[in-house]
Amino acid sequence: MLKIPFNKPYLTGKEAHYMYQAVSAGKLSGNGTYTKLCQSFFEEKYGFKKALLTTSCTDALEMCAILCGVGPGDEVIVPSYTFVSSALAFVRQGCKIVFADSMAKNPNIDAEKLEALVTPKTKVIVPVHYAGVACDMDAIMEIAEKYGLLVVEDAAQAVDSYYKGRPLGSIGHLAAFSFHETKNIIAGEGGLLAINDERFIRRAEIIWEKGTNRSEFFRGEVNKYGWVDTGSSFLPSEVISAFLWAQLEEIESIQEKRKSLWNLYYSGLSVLQDKGLVRLPQIPGFATNNAHMFYMVCRSLEERTALIAYLKERGVLSVFHYQSLHKSEFYKKNYTQIPDLPFADLYSDQLVRLPMYYELGADQVETILSFIRDFYAE
Ligand SMILES: *Cc1c(COP(=O)(O)O)cnc(C)c1O
Repeated sequence: MLKIPFNKPYLTGKEAHYMYQAVSAGKLSGNGTYTKLCQSFFEEKYGFKKALLTTSCTDALEMCAILCGVGPGDEVIVPSYTFVSSALAFVRQGCKIVFADSMAKNPNIDAEKLEALVTPKTKVIVPVHYAGVACDMDAIMEIAEKYGLLVVEDAAQAVDSYYKGRPLGSIGHLAAFSFHETKNIIAGEGGLLAINDERFIRRAEIIWEKGTNRSEFFRGEVNKYGWVDTGSSFLPSEVISAFLWAQLEEIESIQEKRKSLWNLYYSGLSVLQDKGLVRLPQIPGFATNNAHMFYMVCRSLEERTALIAYLKERGVLSVFHYQSLHKSEFYKKNYTQIPDLPFADLYSDQLVRLPMYYELGADQVETILSFIRDFYAE
């Protein structure tokens, strides 16, 4: 029987080779040759002032929360329709999370409703570029500037995507990327902290290296290193960086392939959108599409449940995505006031993601499209 998974990690073929190279070089801990290759790649291609590889995007977000210098009594604005880590990193610093709603036309944070959430306690805004599509960064940066706030881009899904020609992750003060195996560029588990405001660079390197100034020591800037600040072991081993390097070498072809699949889905489903049966992603004029994900929005939770079951019976795995964080068990337990965020709830109930991975064939996409058309014809 036909079996199309939702995701399949893509290997370029060079991963094991570079990992072997890292192993034979005899330096396996972090911040070695492959780490530096990967970090330079990001700094040069996307203009980040400093890039630091991390063991996950969650870790990069935790570093951001520490760097922002926030703690109990401070408020952080985060969209409700996102992954737990966008909020959790700041919860661990003791901050209060203020959830923002998505837009009607796209799951990203609604920048027009942002200013109303700002209070004298607000310190940080965390825009999440859902599906790799940019939030309205000019509007967000303007509010941040007006109120003296920091902006941390959760760019977990946004590698190689742009806002008005500027790379995502290069606009906020800080940004976090993910190389989890479900993302476009993978390392199994892995992430990246991008620093665009230079005043954070020195402290970031210290937090990254267990609160020590070991990076400065390795560069010969100090003659001994020691404990100078808080931190953790946020850096990945060279084995992981070597894997990531093999992926980065192929970033152009990976993105091209994903975009071609995305376009097949989009054109194949347009007829259903024209009939008002589904809603397809809208890419705003200021944003590019990095084809991280193909999703559509059903008319109801019941319809989405039926569609997922219908596809599953035919061997195709489609999945829903986030459940609004303001409705989570954690939030209800810790907060007395639960805000009303209708669009976050709408995407929680009605958004469905279709299979999207490098090795997915055009013929398989056609098969999936015909199942979806059959579903709506019945
Ligand atoms: C995947 C993802 C994360 C977490 O990334 P990890 O590397 O698994 O820690 C955080 N935020 C968003 C929006 C994501 O999609």
